[in-house]
Amino acid sequence: MIHIEQIIRWINRASEKIQTQKEYLTQLDQEIGDGDHGINLSRGFQEVTKKITLKNYQEIGSLFQDISMVLISKVGGASGPLYGTAFMKAASICKGKEELTMDDFANLLEEAVNGLKLRGKAQVGDKTMLDVWEPIARFVREQGETLDWQQLMETSKKYMENTKHLQANKGRAAYLGPRSIGHLDPGAVSSHFLFESLCLTMLE
Ligand code: ADP
Ligand code: MG
Ligand code: MG
Repeated sequence: MIHIEQIIRWINRASEKIQTQKEYLTQLDQEIGDGDHGINLSRGFQEVTKKITLKNYQEIGSLFQDISMVLISKVGGASGPLYGTAFMKAASICKGKEELTMDDFANLLEEAVNGLKLRGKAQVGDKTMLDVWEPIARFVREQGETLDWQQLMETSKKYMENTKHLQANKGRAAYLGPRSIGHLDPGAVSSHFLFESLCLTMLE
């Protein structure tokens, strides 16, 4: 089970991680994009933390809904609407729930992945954040109630690192064609930070 209290701790932890990794994410985006990913996300997650600490949430749906709205309105670039869509889809699964079963969690991730695919028109292997989200969703579905958070964290890291070997077909990095190979995808790295923060919270 994942309780709403743990989700709030997760989001605050992820937000802190993004702040401390702002320069690193920006540097990754300088290599194959326009160098704003760390700036975009740190601004967005700062606003997320501000927003969610003001309210006393009783259910996960409205928490995710608020996170989604803040990300869509405050994060510039491609990643804002994409992260916003993922949280909006997640919200639809969590309506009225104060805690999630692993089945709910798998449903939420699959919905988020479908939303990302629709919104960004990317496929797995296109060197985007989807290359972390999709295997995470698959792993959670396969593991079910026996999910090991340490293993989930390792899965996330593995697929994040794997984006280094891919050629970008979507987003700004696609303009580089084969020259995008050999660099990590910034959105895959920030997605890994998000899932790593979740796993660390659940392992506490
Ligand atoms: P921008 O590229 O507009 O400056 P960001 O730098 O904030 O936006 O985000 C770039 C990240 O967004 C990429 O590293 C990639 O992971 C993700 N991304 C870009 N386009 C897509 C897409 N069509 N589908 C999925 N993810 C994408
Ligand atoms: Mg960018
Ligand atoms: Mg940009």
